[in-house]
Amino acid sequence: MARAAGNRNIQAKLVLLGDMGTGKTSLVLRFVKGQFYDYQESTIGAAFFTQVLSLNEATIKFDIWDTAGQERYHSLAPMYYRGAAAAVVVYDITSKESFQRAKKWVLEIQRQGNPNVIMVLVANKADLDTKRDVGNEEGEQYAKENGLLFFETSAKTAQNVNELFYEIAKRVAKAVPLRPGGMKLHRRSQERGRRLFCCSGSSPFGSDDCNINSW
Ligand code: GDP
Repeated sequence: MARAAGNRNIQAKLVLLGDMGTGKTSLVLRFVKGQFYDYQESTIGAAFFTQVLSLNEATIKFDIWDTAGQERYHSLAPMYYRGAAAAVVVYDITSKESFQRAKKWVLEIQRQGNPNVIMVLVANKADLDTKRDVGNEEGEQYAKENGLLFFETSAKTAQNVNELFYEIAKRVAKAVPLRPGGMKLHRRSQERGRRLFCCSGSSPFGSDDCNINSW
C-alpha cells in the first residue's frame, strides 16, 4: 500500500511547538491513534511519533516531534524545528497568553528555521467556544499576514485534525518535484536532490536543508 500513490514515498519531519497545555500531544494522539484523554500527561523534553498518510500523488511518512512547551526546554527547540519540513504552532483559543506565545514561535522559526518550512498556526480547543479568548478572525488574520496555514481544531472532538495533517501532506508532496522514473535523481539535479533527500528524519538533529527524504 505504501508503494501505491504514484510510487512516491516521502519522509518528512514535522514539529509541534507552542505553550504547555495547548493540546500538542492531544492533537498528535488524535491523529496517530484516534484517541483523546481529558487528563493528558505533560511531555518531558519531546516525544516522537510516526504516521503514514497516503495521498493520490504520494505516500507521506511523517516523523513527528512533539515538543514540551515549558520555557525550561526552550533551548532544545532548535534541534527539533531545524530541518523540519513542517512546523505546527499551537495555541489554545481560551488563552490569549498562548496566542502571544505562538506568535513568538512563529517569529523564531521565521528567523532561524528552514526558510522553506510549511508553517501552520493551529487554534486548538475549538470545542471550548464559550470560554473563547482569541477570536477566530484574530488567528486567521495573523496567519494571513505571515503566510501561514491556519486551522481551528479540537483534539477532543477531532474537528479539523485529519484535515490539518492532510493539508500538510499535500504541501509536502508538492514541495518534492515529480521526476520521470520515480525518485532517482538525474546527475544535474543531484545537488538540489541532496538538499531534499539527505538525512534520516528519526533523529531530532538536522541541518536547515535536511527536511524531506525519500524512503
Ligand atoms: P500540550 O502540553 O500542549 O501537549 O497539551 P496536552 O495535549 O497535554 O493537553 C493539555 C490539556 O488540554 C489536557 O488536559 C487535554 O485533555 C486538554 N486538551 C487538549 N486538546 C483539547 C481540546 O481540543 N479540547 C479540550 N477541551 N481540551 C483539550
